[in-house]
Amino acid sequence: MAGAKYIFVTGGVASSLGKGIIAASLGKLLQARGYRVTNQKLDPYINIDPGTLNPYEHGECYVTVDGTETDLDLGHYERFLNVETHRENNLTSGRIYQNVIERERRGDFLGKTVQVIPHITDEIKRNILQLGQSGKFDFVIVEIGGTVGDIESLPYIESIRQMRWEMAKDCLSIHLTYVPFVRAAGELKTKPTQHSVKELQQEGVQPDILVLRTEHTIPPDVRKKVALFCNVESDAVIESIDVETIYDVPLRMQAEHLDSVVLRKLGINDTHKADMSEWIRFINKLKNASQTVTVGLVGKYVKLPDAYKSIIESLIHASAYNDRKLELKLIHSDNLLSEKHCETMLNNLDGILIAPGFGERGMEGKILAAHYARTHRVPCLGICFGMQCMVIEFARHVLGYADAHTTEVNPDTTHPVIDMMENQKHILHKGGSMRLGAYACQLVENSVVQAIYQKTLIEERHRHRFEFNNSYQTEFEAAGMICSGFNPETHLVEIIEVCSDAQWYIGVQFHPEYRSTVLNPHPLFINFIRAASR
Ligand code: GLN
Repeated sequence: MAGAKYIFVTGGVASSLGKGIIAASLGKLLQARGYRVTNQKLDPYINIDPGTLNPYEHGECYVTVDGTETDLDLGHYERFLNVETHRENNLTSGRIYQNVIERERRGDFLGKTVQVIPHITDEIKRNILQLGQSGKFDFVIVEIGGTVGDIESLPYIESIRQMRWEMAKDCLSIHLTYVPFVRAAGELKTKPTQHSVKELQQEGVQPDILVLRTEHTIPPDVRKKVALFCNVESDAVIESIDVETIYDVPLRMQAEHLDSVVLRKLGINDTHKADMSEWIRFINKLKNASQTVTVGLVGKYVKLPDAYKSIIESLIHASAYNDRKLELKLIHSDNLLSEKHCETMLNNLDGILIAPGFGERGMEGKILAAHYARTHRVPCLGICFGMQCMVIEFARHVLGYADAHTTEVNPDTTHPVIDMMENQKHILHKGGSMRLGAYACQLVENSVVQAIYQKTLIEERHRHRFEFNNSYQTEFEAAGMICSGFNPETHLVEIIEVCSDAQWYIGVQFHPEYRSTVLNPHPLFINFIRAASR
């Protein structure tokens, strides 16, 4: 294909309609036709990145291989497309403004008034075009966060308007709205959609395709009506009905011909059908599993499952892989206050996953869960803070160091089994300053993790400040907790394990969940679910 095409995905009526899933699904379909696709997310908030946001504000913070803290939609892109994203795949207004202001200080605009139009919009366009001009992609699918009409998203919509004006042939706009069913009237209502499209038109953008989220089938006359009122062709009104799993969405979109309509509207003559056979194989395994595996996810943000998005999706991938139906129990670590609580709240679980986290709240609950899992031999996977809790539990109950702790929570502990790296100690600002992104990890010969990965050198993504304190390594190993993965350069401990024929107890300092995809479930999760299924 000569030059990249740009597909913009905006949303209206309400937030949380699943723009990210629609954008990822379209990406998947185009990819399955043989095109090279990348997805980009533009977030209108002012934070430089979501790294400093509480998960309750914005869900999980997803980390790319290059160490960028990004929006959780990038996780959907990677899980659906099975390709890595990078820093340039996520932008926020904060970064856009930061770039422009830095240039202003440098003197790049000397003599000029720096304004939203053209300077901010130019910077937005530059960041979109940069992906297309890299020569690596046929399609750049750009999702705009928020809903049209928001003050913050205006510069983005304006940038789309300009790009459509400047390169109409290469641009396409998809608008996602919601069609509510009003029970009292027994009717689907399209007025909110009409208003949302009007709003977009007022900002200068005429959508080419409308995707209507709905809980009920949209009859042909309603589609026609939307088409007529919103100036789109009626086959460009696409229904996106509620489905059992998000992984059904690409197939639903294929059935609605979203990919064909996109290609036709971009003037691309392609009569192939997207080959979704591998995807369908996964869906079949996901839906046809008859036996259940019950996993408890112990964390402090469980009231918003989006806070653990990648972990939950990884568990789903791995369960389907093992022909198991995942029964997920979200367990609030704040509610685990004693061994007695663990007996009642953890006793029906096949596996326990101890979640990542920061700070004191809920931590003792995670340590209790680790203790329960280790002493009751329940398969247990600890991730990052979860791994650190496993280490602390072991130090307290096996090594006998009652006050063992992480210096994150107790800086005065006499047994700092988890401590901050020397080179982190002088860093005072909080944004983007953790150990972030992919690092190599050497697995120890004959360890359980080496058997799981079937390799000795792996690479996994990180997001933390604190580390296993190497001065305790010999003591831990003598007592049965083996350090089985190390950073080859710094010798930091990346993995601990207490495993035998009867026990699967593994903690990882990194975040394996960022690497699990539909077509490539992560070996650690696969193995954890396998152990839990026994
Ligand atoms: N709070 C811990 C640290 O900074 C763990 C972070 C995490 O779980 N991602 O080291």
